[in-house]
Amino acid sequence: MFDFIVIGGGMMGGPCARYLAEAGHSVALVAAPEPAPGATGPWGSHFDAARITRRVASDPDWSLASRRAIARYADLEARSGERIFHETGAVMAGPEGGPLAGFTSGFLKVARGLDDPPAILDASGVRERTGLALPAGSRATHEIARGGWMDPRAMRTAQWRLAEAAGAIRFAAPAVARDGTEVTLADGTRLPGGHVVVATGPHAGSDGLLPARPKMRVWARTVAFARLSEAEGARLATMPSVIWVPEGWAFDLYMLPPVRYPDGRLYLKIGGQVDSPRIDSAEEMDAWFHGPGDAEVGAGLLAEMRRVLPGLEAEATHTGPCAVVWSETGFPYIAPAGPGVTVLCGGNGAAAKCGDELGRLGALVASGTGLDGEGYGQDFRAVWD
Ligand SMILES: Cc1cc2nc3c(=O)[nH]c(=O)nc-3n(C[C@H](O)[C@H](O)[C@H](O)COP(=O)(O)OP(=O)(O)OC[C@H]3O[C@@H](n4cnc5c(N)ncnc54)[C@H](O)[C@@H]3O)c2cc1C
Repeated sequence: MFDFIVIGGGMMGGPCARYLAEAGHSVALVAAPEPAPGATGPWGSHFDAARITRRVASDPDWSLASRRAIARYADLEARSGERIFHETGAVMAGPEGGPLAGFTSGFLKVARGLDDPPAILDASGVRERTGLALPAGSRATHEIARGGWMDPRAMRTAQWRLAEAAGAIRFAAPAVARDGTEVTLADGTRLPGGHVVVATGPHAGSDGLLPARPKMRVWARTVAFARLSEAEGARLATMPSVIWVPEGWAFDLYMLPPVRYPDGRLYLKIGGQVDSPRIDSAEEMDAWFHGPGDAEVGAGLLAEMRRVLPGLEAEATHTGPCAVVWSETGFPYIAPAGPGVTVLCGGNGAAAKCGDELGRLGALVASGTGLDGEGYGQDFRAVWD
């Protein structure tokens, strides 16, 4: 009999299990492994080598969650032996005028309110410092300390390892059913628990593990990669991660500096979409993750990569699939979901960097402590269909 069963060992579920185990509870962490190419899911939003991390955000609550998580990276690295954080710096930019002026003024306001606020620059200031060619009329923050990218797979491993070190038991078979606070796994194992946390990422809206369907949209996203020679990688080695709004675009794009991927090669990665196909079932998720993403979207992204990095020499390019979860509130759902159940999902494309903090909040809700006094304006309530 476990005090807590956490289903989903991703960016939020992993740390949730760790915090509960480190608080002395008996914990089962049901964490399906990343599927091999061509295999069926469950899938996750963090199956990649890099995610942007930054203190600046257009909303103060997202910034607070990130700052708290970033402050713990070093401890997680020291205790787990994993290399999580790469402090390459982070640029966030937007247009001063036009329909996205609110996005820009929002993150500039948050930036000015930070301890040790980052530099605020115009496009030529960013170009001088980083070589990035942003659209004229952009205003940008440049975080040097505590900004850059984090390795979500290393973070996942660190959270699992420390949860197990604190006594949690990890199960690799995916959960297929929940009856009250008893969870059944795909291999027939039945886990009796006192409380269940459902943190199944993009599957949370369709896997039926929650008492009701959380109101969320799962978007099929395409990312594009440029493979670099070692020489080109060295030339771009001081590049920061960057979020910006290309000239004439109605939404922001993001790009990671050169990152070495599991195949040993260096890649730049770019992404960013508002509208894309929706995913409403495990079968649709399998189909999407078995494909290369959308080639046309990829071509558009690569054209913007070349615009912001004049002179870029790429050896090859390719595209890949991913999936993000948009909640109704724009914030994760971290809330009671019925007797003995807590919902912990809804990354809104931004929860890898701050998953450790969102997982901590999930542990507080699951253990009945609640989130009053945690300093957020947001209540992380869930919205149900
Ligand atoms: C292309 C892309 C780029 C992104 N860029 C950034 C970025 O730069 N910075 C940032 O902070 N965030 C970024 N994100 C968002 C971030 O990755 C997500 O917000 C985050 O991963 C959400 O965490 P989660 O724990 O809710 O879900 P996930 O990380 O998806 O974890 C869910 C886990 O649950 C497991 N699971 C599902 N069903 C079951 C089951 N039945 N039994 C057992 N396990 C199960 C899955 O295998 C998975 O491991 C990006 C996302 C995408 C797709």
